[in-house]
Amino acid sequence: MVATEKVRQNIMENIYDLAILGAGPAGICAAIYATRAKLNTIWLDKKFVQGGQIVDTYEVDNYPGLPGITGLDLGEAMAGHAEKLGMKPQREPVRSIETEHGIKVIRTKKNEYRARAVIIACGATHRHLGIPGEEELSGMGVSYCATCDAAFFQDRTVVVVGGGNVAVEDAILLSRTCKKVYLVHRRDELRAEKILQESLFACKNVELIWDSIPLSIEGTDKVEALKIRNKKTQEESFIETDGVFIAVGIVPGTEKFKDLVKLDEAGYIVAGEDGITSEPGIFAAGDIRTKNLRQVVTAVADGANAVASAQRYLLDK
Ligand code: NAP
Repeated sequence: MVATEKVRQNIMENIYDLAILGAGPAGICAAIYATRAKLNTIWLDKKFVQGGQIVDTYEVDNYPGLPGITGLDLGEAMAGHAEKLGMKPQREPVRSIETEHGIKVIRTKKNEYRARAVIIACGATHRHLGIPGEEELSGMGVSYCATCDAAFFQDRTVVVVGGGNVAVEDAILLSRTCKKVYLVHRRDELRAEKILQESLFACKNVELIWDSIPLSIEGTDKVEALKIRNKKTQEESFIETDGVFIAVGIVPGTEKFKDLVKLDEAGYIVAGEDGITSEPGIFAAGDIRTKNLRQVVTAVADGANAVASAQRYLLDK
């Protein structure tokens, strides 16, 4: 059957060629490529604002051609590009995907969609520390998004936990408006890019606390202190603070896909650059798949690659 006949038959049977799940950089790029490939596509996302994790990022300084752009602006520009091509995601969190007679059945709370191929680009969410006080004081001084919440801590003291790009970027951002910023890291070396480390070390009101792990967040109706232990000396101490910003990495949202596709031990969908997973017709793109470098620039590349793989799969079927 030629491709156009297939498309016509799919429409009659109410089967999409492609379902794209997620509207971060990978999902948006997949939507752009799918439209240009004239695939009959359904696009679902759980959030109102498109752009995924970058929306929570103050500045994205390593996306080629757009130095210093804010995460929100980059997310808006990407989503705007897709919208210009007529693509806008429906706000429906996906509950499950099953394969029935070679067709993928995607279930949300209200609906059931059928597609011949699916690109999972649902990204990842903030990792939690899992210490006493973290959940209880969430929104009362505990935050996972400095860009969103920095304004509440003007002229106050805050602690950032973590040693990656996000923690360092958060500490730099907070140092601009806070009186004092502590950066608590569990080792004696930061994981963040060197250029970010240099900017951090130049911030006069940032103090680094090395080799320390958070034990608990103290306070009743609001954060009052972070209790830490020095891993080398075993000494325990309290840092008096108004806020604790937790930036200790991300975890993939793959629990609902664990019976569908192969996951690695950390929960990421096992897939290469082509996005091909263990389940024929299911492709993974962006932070949700196994990869060495999780960046906006690699996520958009994944979106394009996954559509190319999906096209090949649809033609071969
Ligand atoms: P990350 O690079 O994985 O770093 C997490 C940091 O938290 C590490 O320093 C780690 O310590 C520490 N950590 C992890 N678990 C901990 C725990 N239980 N207690 C205390 N500390 C803990 O994560 P991230 O900085 O949040 O970045 C998340 C992802 O976003 C990364 O993949 C990153 O590449 C990506 N990102 C992309 C861009 C961009 O595209 N422009 C910008 C920012 C971030 P260790 O160092 O000891 O492991």
